[in-house]
Amino acid sequence: MIELAMAMDTVMVTYKALRTLLDKIKDIEIKNLILEMNEQLLSMKESALELKNENMNLKEEINKLIIASDKKLIFRDGGYYDGDTGPYCQTCYDNGKQLVLMSDAPGICSYWCHKCDRVIK
Ligand SMILES: [Zn+2]
Repeated sequence: MIELAMAMDTVMVTYKALRTLLDKIKDIEIKNLILEMNEQLLSMKESALELKNENMNLKEEINKLIIASDKKLIFRDGGYYDGDTGPYCQTCYDNGKQLVLMSDAPGICSYWCHKCDRVIK
């Protein structure tokens, strides 16, 4: 992804150099091609940004799955436990493999998930 960003920067520098020469160019066909190139470069830059964001989200998902697969989870008393650690929220884990440690909530319920509001009484 870094290589793509560097290549885009290099192309943009070249484009800007061409753009400064645009007023000196008399051929309208060449002028139009340079302007068309600008639109294509902006579109490529937008696509690169979308790919970068998608890549970041996928890396985040992979990390969550790796963390979840390292645990030996056991379901009991309404939540998942990894040994003595828990409960982790069943809803968050079952729906997105997110390990969300539930908070103690004495008085209202036994445990509460800050992410999805699930409670264990
Ligand atoms: Zn939850």
